[in-house]
Amino acid sequence: MKKQFKAESKRMLDLMINSIYTHKEIFLREIISNASDAIDKLSYLSLTDDKVGIDRKDFAITLTIDKEKGTLTVSDNGIGMDDKELDKHLGVIANSGSYQFRQENGDAADTDIIGQFGVGFYSAFMVADKITVVTRKYGCDQAYCWESEGVDGYTITPCDKDTVGTDVIMHIKADGEEKGEFSQYLQEYTLRSLVKKYSDYIRFPIRMEMPKSRRKEGSPDDKPEYEDYYELETLNSMVPLWQRKKSDVTREEYDKFYQERFGDFAAPQSVITVSAEGAVTYKALLFIPAKTPGMYYTEDYKAGLQLYSAGVMIMDQCEDLLPDYFNFVRGVVDSPDLSLNISRELLQHDRQLKVIRNNLEKKIRAELERMLKDEREQYETFFRNFGRQLKVCALNNYGANKEQLQDLLLFYSSTEKKLVTLKEYVDRMPEGQKYIYYAAGDTIEAVDNLPQTELLKEHNYEILYFTDKADEFIPDMFREYGGKQFRNAIDGDLELGDEEKKVDAEAHKEAFDFIREVLGDKVSEVRASTKLKTHPVCLTSGDGLTFEMEKYFTAVQPELGMKAKRILELNVDHPAFVTFETTRIMDPEKAKKYVEIFYNQALLIAGLPLENPSAYTDLLCSLWS
Ligand code: ADP
Ligand code: MG
Repeated sequence: MKKQFKAESKRMLDLMINSIYTHKEIFLREIISNASDAIDKLSYLSLTDDKVGIDRKDFAITLTIDKEKGTLTVSDNGIGMDDKELDKHLGVIANSGSYQFRQENGDAADTDIIGQFGVGFYSAFMVADKITVVTRKYGCDQAYCWESEGVDGYTITPCDKDTVGTDVIMHIKADGEEKGEFSQYLQEYTLRSLVKKYSDYIRFPIRMEMPKSRRKEGSPDDKPEYEDYYELETLNSMVPLWQRKKSDVTREEYDKFYQERFGDFAAPQSVITVSAEGAVTYKALLFIPAKTPGMYYTEDYKAGLQLYSAGVMIMDQCEDLLPDYFNFVRGVVDSPDLSLNISRELLQHDRQLKVIRNNLEKKIRAELERMLKDEREQYETFFRNFGRQLKVCALNNYGANKEQLQDLLLFYSSTEKKLVTLKEYVDRMPEGQKYIYYAAGDTIEAVDNLPQTELLKEHNYEILYFTDKADEFIPDMFREYGGKQFRNAIDGDLELGDEEKKVDAEAHKEAFDFIREVLGDKVSEVRASTKLKTHPVCLTSGDGLTFEMEKYFTAVQPELGMKAKRILELNVDHPAFVTFETTRIMDPEKAKKYVEIFYNQALLIAGLPLENPSAYTDLLCSLWS
């Protein structure tokens, strides 16, 4: 009975069959990588299950060409599949990286994705018009045959196969207009160069009978005769990239390795190589991605490094090798010191693993510090991608990781007009400046326009702009940096001494009482501002919860009803206030309207929602109607 492909897979298949993609050759890489994965699985099983019966050195991938039938077969002695798995894995695209990529990028990405990810098993339909998969799963006696000619669907039938593993038999398409377009995949030399190009680091030998020529035995020296013969040759060098000396590997090779292995279409921003001997011997090859992965800031993101023990993969994503704050790092760790049949739970407590983890943490941090120092622009790109993770983790556990992370954080500076570190800020603080000033808001512009920053700016004090929701928690968690405490430029007492405006609070007591009466419990205090110079009014929250925190909590936990204190500060020298004062005496009703305007304008500037926008609009317009 013919089964139908699932809808999404059908689309993908369609795309493959009619592909005009020029690098159809990548199908081989995909089929070989599946074979290698299957062997990995069985080889891992063989560590704990001695019934597997295959010696590690016997694991191999074999390419076979049948020129007469026009088939190319990729065979492996890996784990194999049973009928259910055939149905599940080859009937649907499931969670392959390419599928996700399409989900995120839409149909426009159709042609690109083939090159950037390959598309797994289905890519073989770019070069084959029929595919037969003969497979027997480890531990099963029955073998099965999956067959498909494309969109029509596929069949699964029981069949015979002596050994465990999988043969993928591709019936190569007839050449189209271009000579050799498809038939080249039936040529040994083409296949060998494709293996070299794409699959050189596959850890198992990829073998093929290669045509050779030798001198016929007994042919005379003056008239030598030659004969053709075939010899099984291993096509890939197998030595993993991380085992090679750094000086022997080009950046391009590292990039290619990263892109293929971790399914990223961008080259990594940084490559870190580690070769350690001593307490624990291991090699590591780490990458910092150049872009934030789509899932990164979601719960679906899976962190971790690939863990190998002497070339055998023991875990695909070992989270324990990285601290949370560097969980964006991708890569491979290979240590002969790790015991192979260790369980996931035991691994967590493994002493050697802890040593490796600590070393890797230092290496990654050193690389970031180097980038910050030598390649500022690169570092800023990095920070835009992953800085949020660093900040959030610097705050976690009451700032337990402050020491490790504080010098890696960047904040926008009002005077430098770019991102700066806390160290840079403190180093250039003029004598007499007591605090690290900061101001928070939704965007750089919003903070820049806050009237309260006027006084500090006028005296050329540098202000750090906190535009990330996490930023504002830093002063609380860090307490200080370089012996200097933080001070909120908006709400706090700036302690500028002589530079602050002196105001005579008593002189305006009546006006403030009037305002307080009009606003009732909307505000907790009304006072004269010491910070405002040219602006008429602002809202301050005092110590405690700030407006930015209020906005944060309103967004994530509205049920808490967290509200910051609202203190209305007025610039008593401003013409608006002077007018208000005279109106209060001449026309108190009108003055009440002015109070409402002061208050609502202050809300607007603080980026807080107006309590009743339509009533406020009516009120404003009533003034001139
Ligand atoms: P991916 O490799 O990203 O999972 P593929 O489309 O390449 O996606 O393969 C789909 C699935 O089919 C694999 O995950 C695997 O379970 C199964 N599969 C493919 N080829 C083989 C093979 N040679 N041996 C065992 N299983 C295989
Ligand atoms: Mg695959």
